Order: sequence, then C-alpha cells, then structure tokens
Amino acid sequence: MLTAQYDSLLVAISILVAVLASYTALDMAARIHSSSGRSAMLWLTGGSVAMGIGIWSMHFIGMLSFSLPIELGYDIGLTILSLLIAIVASGFALWRVTQSELSFGQLLLGALIMGLAIAAMHYTGMAAMRMTPGIQYDHAWFIVSLLIAIGASGAALWIAFILRKNKPHTVWARMAAAVVMGAAIIGMHYTGMFAANFPLGSICGAQYAGVTPGWLALVVIVVTLSIFAIALLTSVLDARLESQTSILARSLAVANQELTLQALQDNLTKLPNRTLLEDRLEQMLHKAAREHARFALMFLDLDGFKAINDSLGHHIGDLLLIEVANRIRHNIRGQDTAARLGGDEFVILIEITDPEDAATVAGKLCDAINAPFHINQHDLGVSASIGITVYPEDGRTAHDLLVNADAAMYHTKGVGRNGYHFFETSMNTNAHNQLQMIQDLRHALDERQFVLHYQPKHDAQDGRIVGMEALLRWQHPVRGLIGPGEFIPTAEKTGLIVSIGEWVLDEACRQMRIWLDSGYTEWKVAVNLSAVQFANGLLVDQVAATLKKYALPAHCLMLEVTESTAMQDVESSMTILTELAVLGIDISIDDFGTGYSSLLYLKRLPACELKIDRGFIHNLAKNSDDAAIVSAIVAMGHSLNLRIVAEGVETETQRSILKTLGCDTLQGYLLGRPAAPTQLSYNTILPHTPVIAAI
Ligand code: C2E
Ligand code: CA
Ligand code: CA
Repeated sequence: MLTAQYDSLLVAISILVAVLASYTALDMAARIHSSSGRSAMLWLTGGSVAMGIGIWSMHFIGMLSFSLPIELGYDIGLTILSLLIAIVASGFALWRVTQSELSFGQLLLGALIMGLAIAAMHYTGMAAMRMTPGIQYDHAWFIVSLLIAIGASGAALWIAFILRKNKPHTVWARMAAAVVMGAAIIGMHYTGMFAANFPLGSICGAQYAGVTPGWLALVVIVVTLSIFAIALLTSVLDARLESQTSILARSLAVANQELTLQALQDNLTKLPNRTLLEDRLEQMLHKAAREHARFALMFLDLDGFKAINDSLGHHIGDLLLIEVANRIRHNIRGQDTAARLGGDEFVILIEITDPEDAATVAGKLCDAINAPFHINQHDLGVSASIGITVYPEDGRTAHDLLVNADAAMYHTKGVGRNGYHFFETSMNTNAHNQLQMIQDLRHALDERQFVLHYQPKHDAQDGRIVGMEALLRWQHPVRGLIGPGEFIPTAEKTGLIVSIGEWVLDEACRQMRIWLDSGYTEWKVAVNLSAVQFANGLLVDQVAATLKKYALPAHCLMLEVTESTAMQDVESSMTILTELAVLGIDISIDDFGTGYSSLLYLKRLPACELKIDRGFIHNLAKNSDDAAIVSAIVAMGHSLNLRIVAEGVETETQRSILKTLGCDTLQGYLLGRPAAPTQLSYNTILPHTPVIAAI
C-alpha cells in the first residue's frame, strides 16, 4: 500500500472551511425562513450554491491536503459532478429545514438522503483521481463513513431547523452549532479517507488530463472564502433591511391601531362610539342567544345639559361631558360597555341575571350624575334620564332594543326626569304618536288649527293690565286642544317652528291692532320666540314687516326670549336683539334663573324685562331660599334698569310676597288664565282690571 501523507496547513484550512460552510448554511436557513415568495426562492438557490460549494471545497481541500508518493490529479468532469451533487444535497437540506414542520420520520429520511448525497459527493471526488488499479476501500470504515455522513446530516438538519428563526441569542448558538456540524462533515471526510487504501504501483489516471493540486488549492480556498464572504455580507445587509422593514411595519401597525381606535372611539370622552357600540351589541346578542342569557341596554340622556352648553359655551359643555363619561365609567364593571352616541346621549350595555341588577346600576348612575360638578369655577348641576330594555323580553334585535330604550328614556323625561324606567309596550305608542304628530303638524298651519290664547300681565302695584302674552294652542281635530309643551319641541326639531312662529307673530300683531283700535294703548303683546327662530337670519326683517303690515307702533310688541336662547351664541344674540331694540321693540328675558347667564353679558343685552322662572315662585311661601333668590334677582335686575316680572303667581300669599320683594309685574292663574281673546273680557280680565271694565 502507498502511505498517504497530509499537509497539516491544508487540513486546518479544510476544518475552518467546514465550520464556515456550516455557519453560512445555518444563516441561509434563517434567511429563507424569514422571507417569502420570490426572495425565499433566491435565498434558497444562493444558499444551496454557497453551502454546496462550502461542503465540496472542504472535501476538496481535504483531498488536496492528502498526498501519495505518486503524482496526483483530478478528472474535471467527475470533480464538477461531485460539486453538483454537493449543491443539490445542500438545496435539499435547506428546503427541508425551512419547512414549518419537521417530524422525526421526515428528519430521518432527510438525514438519509443528505448523508448519502454527501457520501456520493465524497466518493465521486475520490473517483475523480481515476486510480488504477482502483482504490480499495476498507468495508467497515466505508460503512462507518456512511453512518457518520447520515448521522452528521441528521444532526445538522435538526440544528438548522431549531435555529431557523432569528432570535436575540441565535448568533452564538449558531456559531456553536456550526462547530458541531463542521466537525461532523470533517469526521465523515477523514473516515472516508481512512477507509481508502491505495495499492502499491497505483497510477493516478487524472494526473495529466486533470487539474493539478498546487494552484488548485489556492483557487478553491480563495473562491470558497469569497463566496462565504459574499453570502454572509448579503445576509447581514438583508437582515438589516429586514429589521428596518419590520420596524417600519411595526410603526405602521401602531398607526393602524390608532386609526382603528379613532374610528371606534368617541374623541371627546374616549368612550366607544356608535360603531363600536353596534359591534359590541351584536356580539352580546349572539352570546346571549347562544347561552340563553340576558343583558340590559340603557339609554341615558342628560337633563339640563343644553342650557349649560348654550349659556356657558361648548368648552364647558365638553368638559362636563368628559366628567359625566368618567362617572359613568366608574359606576359600571370592566366587562360592561358605555358608549357615547353623540351630544349628551350615552348607551350602556350590561350583563345581568335579573332586571333588578339593571335597576341597581341605573340608580347608581343617576346618583353619580346628580352630584354637583365643579368645572372651571362653575358649580354645575345636571341629572340623567334613563330608559332600560332587557334582552330578550324588550327586543331581540339591536334596533328594537335601542328604539325601545329610547322610548323608555323619553318616558322618564316626560314624568319628571332624573331617574330610570324599564320599557313598557305602551311607551312605544308614544314613539308612534310622535311620528303621527309630525305628520299632523305639517298640515296644522294650512288647516288653520292653531290658535293663540292670551294671558294678561299685571302691574304689581295697582293691578292694571300692562300687556298680554300670546300663548300658542293647537286645536287638534282628534285630540282636542293641545298645549305648546306637547308639540313645540317636535316643531323645533323638525324646523316647522319657523313657519309656525311666523304665523304666531302675525296673529298676535293682528290681535294687538284690534286692541289698539279698542283703546288699549298702554298694552304690549308679548310673543315667545324659540331658539330656532332666533337663529334664523330673517327674524328682524320679518318683525319689521309684520309691524308695518298692521301699522303697529313698535312699542306695542314685546319679544320673550328664554335665558338659555339669549346666551346660546352671545355675540349673535347681542346683534339680533340690538337690531330689534333699535326698531323700538321691547325684549324680555324669559325663564330667568334656569340657565347660567353671566351678569356681564346680561348687562350688555338690550333687554328691558326679566321674567323670573315660575319654578322660584311656586315654593315662595315654603322655601325661604327661593325668596332670597327672587329678592336677589330683583335687586340685580333693578340695578341693570330691568323691569322684573314674576310669572306663575297662583296664590294671594305669593302675590303679596312678590309685591313686597319689589317685583314690577305679575302674571299667573291668580290674576288671569290664558284664554282666547273673545273670552278675555268676561272671564279673566274683568274681575281684576278696572281698565277693561270701563269698556
Ligand atoms: P312660558 O313662556 O314660560 O309661558 C308661561 C307658561 O306658564 C304658559 O304655559 C302658561 O299657561 C303657564 N302659566 C301661566 N300662569 C301660570 C300659573 O299660575 N301657574 C302655572 N303652573 N302655569 C302658568 P303654556 O301656555 O303651556 O306654554 C308653555 C311654554 O310654551 C311657554 O312657556 C313658552 O315657552 C312656550 N310657548 C307658548 N307659546 C309659544 C309660541 O307661540 N312660540 C314659542 N316659541 N313658544 C311658545
Ligand atoms: Ca313666555
Ligand atoms: Ca316663562
């Protein structure tokens, strides 16, 4: 046998190349795993080539480190074939480990295929020497080399599969793994070499035809190392790009999340908005249907919010809404949903076992909201009107539950606000009635169904009539005479109030003309204006035209504007009221004390009369607080040169107190109920007013 010799430097290089090839392969596997589509294909191809060349060159450098006492060379065809086998085997290995699953059976099969492929490469490489007589292989060592190839491939596949995901400490783990894999590949190679025996007198057939080892070693080493360098460099750049992309993707995801949140959240209160509520409600419906469970839906509307918003401005209104939302949040459980529908409307969804649970929560909410709010130096008071529906009794769809809870909420408002009511079928008729009323209202003007009743205003000192307040009534063909409280809110909501108001102004002026012609030259007819009319830019022209139409002096007309209407948009109120005052018309601030006027503005308003809300008059005898308030209003009003009117005077006691407190004008059932003009002289006016008695 020829004794083989090994060049120790080349052996060392072959070991280094094996470890480097393993590292590159593991790195490629991670690249393939984290990319997809075309780029995964590219990485797989590039990875297979780099790894294949790596394994092959390790083997080839190993071969080159080996020398026999005879000249050696390598057949080019077989050498290239062995390289191709290495590349295909690597491709297969990379593909295998980058699949999402690797079962034990698959690992075994993969190890077998890859191990045999590496062995095939090795022995094809050996065959490239074209030795004659042929190389004699020691059977036992040959089988050991196959087993090592298969075992090493199995270990390599398994390690690569485990490390295919890039994680913070993967680089170190991958380096250690590369050493293990490199050792395995080398083990296979040198066992294979150990198995080979070259009989004495062997001749290398590729000695002249093939390439010679000397310069070949250099070329292979340089090419291999540059391929590793290129592969690893590209991989590092790609990884960096990928991490930048993932940072970008993360910030995109965050932005997306924020957008979704905005689309689902009420901006002001940060409560869920209508969209999210509808979604949650659908989910609750499904869940409750599936589990035969119950839940309650509450419709909550604030009482007195509009007055605050109108008189103190939207900013304070917004702050109040935020506070209300916080109180709602604190009084429900985490799994319950409170949403804001807009304005001062909220909906609360709660899981319950018994309707009593809903009543408890509703009671807590009412108490919480009823407690005073302290906002920007203002002490504000609002209350909550709540309507409750329970699934499945009061509705099986989101729409039914909402509509019915809304009807129940309106019922709460109707019976005095600040409280809650469970839905009852009769309430739905109310909602139906509302629709009917809107339809009827549209015809009421054409059908001449409106009438004006008049209530006298008396001088507090001598009882003489100083004016008449026109109060609207609707002579409904079916329902009879309806008071304004029942239909004016609807007329305002639908905008019908504008044409109705126009009619009221015309009719009141027409009546005043008649009174004037009858000699009541001291009287003023007072017409109530709603906020909607007030916001309509035509008001001033309309008033002037109507006065002209009946040739009425402006001092015969008084316009009553509620405190909250006047404070709604202070600047434009100021402009309109000033224009009206310039025409010579008197302005009266109605329902004074219910809004939140600032004295400063009140001073600038061109009003000449303040009407103290009848709420203060009602308890005058019993409640000394109210007497103090009335007395304060009188003092303040007088200091601003305003006449003070007390409305809703029902008893003699009230009348004498008001007179003592210094009110200028009195109005109320005690002195005269509102009545049609034809009824006035007989019923109401005569007993109290010598002036009328005179005619
Ligand atoms: P308001 O301007 O505060 O009118 C006074 C209301 O108090 C009237 O109710 C009147 O009937 C009632 N009243 C008078 N004396 C007494 C009394 O001694 N005790 C009690 N408890 N009530 C008394 P009415 O006629 O039902 O009108 C209600 C509201 O409807 C009015 O409140 C006013 O805001 C509005 N309104 C009436 N007519 C018109 C109108 O033509 N246009 C507009 N926009 N609103 C109107
Ligand atoms: Ca009034
Ligand atoms: Ca009033």
